[in-house]
Amino acid sequence: MGFQDKLISWYQVNKRDLPWRRTNDAYTIWLSEVILQQTRVEQGMPYFYRFLEAYPTVNDFAAASEQEVLRLWQGLGYYSRGRNMHFTARQVAGSPGANFPQKHEDLLKLKGVGAYTAAAVASFSANEAVPVVDGNVYRVLARVFGIHTPINSTAGKKIFAELASQLLDRHRPGLYNQAIMEFGALQCKPVSPNCGVCPLRDECYAFRNAEVKMLPVKIRKAKPRARFFFYLVCCKGDQVLVRQRGPGDIWQHLYDFPLVEQAADTGSLPAGSTLDTIKNRFGNEAKLTLLSYKKHLLTHQIIHAHFFALENYMVNFKEEAELKWVSKDELEHLPLPKIISGFKDDFLNN
Ligand code: SF4
Repeated sequence: MGFQDKLISWYQVNKRDLPWRRTNDAYTIWLSEVILQQTRVEQGMPYFYRFLEAYPTVNDFAAASEQEVLRLWQGLGYYSRGRNMHFTARQVAGSPGANFPQKHEDLLKLKGVGAYTAAAVASFSANEAVPVVDGNVYRVLARVFGIHTPINSTAGKKIFAELASQLLDRHRPGLYNQAIMEFGALQCKPVSPNCGVCPLRDECYAFRNAEVKMLPVKIRKAKPRARFFFYLVCCKGDQVLVRQRGPGDIWQHLYDFPLVEQAADTGSLPAGSTLDTIKNRFGNEAKLTLLSYKKHLLTHQIIHAHFFALENYMVNFKEEAELKWVSKDELEHLPLPKIISGFKDDFLNN
């Protein structure tokens, strides 16, 4: 049995029954693929159902407000992906016929649809012969074929793309793509792959050469940048002061609180100078009480967030356009970064 047949036979016995595998609707498959690039299947499933229920068609999605979309996306992180998804839906809805494309070349013309998503949608919805190359595929190919070129290098991307193309089962591209991805997700896992009962173990370079733990090779990325956020939580009766975040930084258009940011590494506790800065801005009578400290990891940043209750402040918040008072009920319906949503649940929900 060849490589493709072994993978497909394995898949037919071991595959998970997932809702997006029961359809060939390109829109539904696209939804699932974008969500699954962001999180694992178990965590992504509720988001998939939530989006499909709110927006059964791409036209429904396009008609939604950005705020609604971000609210549904909340918790998945990497919000630009949620915004791009919305942009894509609007692009499709505004095109002649307003049908979600199935062809690889048409999919690639959509903003926010990269090579992986286009290949997945085209091969799963229309059985087009284009290979998918995601993290699972990189891992399987690197191990089975003993490729040591880093998967995130330009040379590596080219080598893996060519190999994936050569290996693609041109008679059953959709099935083969599903099979190799599922094989990587369940059998040839990053840690503790199930080599003992693997149908590829006789031909697997990594297994035969005891290099399973070494492959795939990845170039280490630069250390994430640490940022120190000092949030000022101002409450007035049932109302809390929130701020819509602007462009050019993380969490664009999401809501958080008035913020003082300090660039220098001060450890996990605020330095005196930060407190002085706050006092200068809000008056000497301002009373600050530390409520909580949370650390949040993003792809390239580590956020150290200190939440202070701010009372007795001397500033007219009306002057700051991006700030507004909302009731705690309204806050529930605003799109919030995970760290803010966690703080809200701990401190503002009672
Ligand atoms: S033998 Fe192990 S490393 Fe090789 S393909 Fe199978 S599970 Fe992956």
